[in-house]
Amino acid sequence: MEPLDRSTIWPYDEQGEPREFHYQRFGSPTVSAAEDALGRLDGGTALLFPSGTGAITALVLSLLEPGATIALAAGGYYGTGVAFAALAPWGLRVVEFDQTGAPPDDVELVWVEAPTNPFLTMPNLEAAAAHPAPVLVDATVATPVHLRPLEHGADFVLHSATKYLAGHDDALLGVVVCREAAAAEELRSFRGRTGIVAAPDPAWLLLRGLRTVDLRVRRQTETAAFLAERLRGHPAVETVRYPGLGGLLSFDVADAETARNVEMSTRVIVNATSLGGVTTLIESRRRWEGERVPAGLLRLSVGLEDPEELWADLEQALWRM
Ligand code: PLP
Repeated sequence: MEPLDRSTIWPYDEQGEPREFHYQRFGSPTVSAAEDALGRLDGGTALLFPSGTGAITALVLSLLEPGATIALAAGGYYGTGVAFAALAPWGLRVVEFDQTGAPPDDVELVWVEAPTNPFLTMPNLEAAAAHPAPVLVDATVATPVHLRPLEHGADFVLHSATKYLAGHDDALLGVVVCREAAAAEELRSFRGRTGIVAAPDPAWLLLRGLRTVDLRVRRQTETAAFLAERLRGHPAVETVRYPGLGGLLSFDVADAETARNVEMSTRVIVNATSLGGVTTLIESRRRWEGERVPAGLLRLSVGLEDPEELWADLEQALWRM
């Protein structure tokens, strides 16, 4: 493994000049090694941030001017909208749109999600790329195993690396991968000046996670497809959302009370938030997202357990209703 270097400082060189690494806020070897690996996965220049949300905030503040408008995919990760709302006093505006079609005119940034969490729609990347504004794809759920948005005309890819990339529910991180090296340099400079920078310890855990991301995501995808099919055939399940890729799906039961009972009745599947780890998680999204989601919507993040064991667990939880 790459060594874990926790230093915050490194001595100047023989001429008394700063080396590549001199102060951790401007760059450090372990973070840099993780960025190299992430850049290779997505085919661009990667920059690491302390969380996915930190990456969202840094990118928007660095790229846009006060008064700018973002076209935001409807039904995407609710925290993205929450972060944008927190920036409203600084003049950030948002218009939501249906990402299966073309983004609206007169916006300074197009923000889509592949696929959306928790509605699982896929963006029309061709229509997004045809828009004159820069395009960002939050590909947290698809991961580079299934989608490399820079190859489809996107300017930026964002991942909550907390999810599939680190993969073990023990590291909070975010990444922006830039198509243009110049854009990456601007964001790197902004990151150093504002201090929204990742630490070496989670970066090291990410490096370890990346060694198995391909295997994990392929297996999670197979199991998710299997569970989606079984759920579709279950009488207590009304709607199943699964786009055919990745380890995340959502499904609806009759109402909020039923959803609560199901999430509290599983024995193998853990009732917790987040997604992308090796442990299968279930949660009702009403508690976080309110009216934005159906009352009976349950989100399932599929882990690496035996698929039949997971189905047996879901089935016994559903039959109790
Ligand atoms: N993007 C998506 C699609 C997410 O699901 C999440 C978190 O759930 C984020 C971004 C934010 O990431 P973080 O929790 O690492 O800040």
